Amino acid sequence: MGKIENILAVLDQLYPDAETELWYEKDYQLLIAVLLSAQATDVSVNKVTPQLFNRFKTLEALKEAPIEAIEEEIKSIGLYHSKAKNIKKTATILVDQYQSKVPTSLADLESLPGVGRKTANVVASVLFKTPRIAVDTHVSRVSKRLKLATLKDSPLKIEEKLMRKFKEDRWIRLHHQMILFGRYHCKAQNPSCEGCPLKTECRFPHIKVP
Ligand code: SF4
Repeated sequence: MGKIENILAVLDQLYPDAETELWYEKDYQLLIAVLLSAQATDVSVNKVTPQLFNRFKTLEALKEAPIEAIEEEIKSIGLYHSKAKNIKKTATILVDQYQSKVPTSLADLESLPGVGRKTANVVASVLFKTPRIAVDTHVSRVSKRLKLATLKDSPLKIEEKLMRKFKEDRWIRLHHQMILFGRYHCKAQNPSCEGCPLKTECRFPHIKVP
């Protein structure tokens, strides 16, 4: 079995039903959850979003909400000042320009305040099943350790390399599987190298890799 097939087989065995761990019920709630997850854990985001979306039940309510009221709900999350502003601005744009719907195109998504390439990729792949690989800190670290990218590669470079190496119909699942593998197994600090099923593919099984 080749390297790529081996990685896919191991990830399929470990995480057969990988999907986002962010909590959401409506499309725009996922967009806001992903926006909140920049430099924050999904667990910390999931702690604030139910209350946030319960207090502001619609996009229109978020559009009309005072920034301070949004801040109050998300203040346990890093960068909450700018995230609160971006939530309000994004809600305003979605209501005014997109009939209160999340746009499907990556370009439209990326034009929203606080939405970068990674967020646009996550939202497009989760909501609209657009084949993309969003490169976050976990995908980046795992790609580097598994020699799917060089240590110096930027997130964009890693994204391009992964899309070249893996078939398009596996991108969405692979993205979630790599996140789970990085979050729970190949952790930044103290990865579980002993008995790791991907040790043979790994660049530095015994050396800490950023
Ligand atoms: S051997 Fe360690 S560093 Fe390499 S993929 Fe496995 S857990 Fe990650």
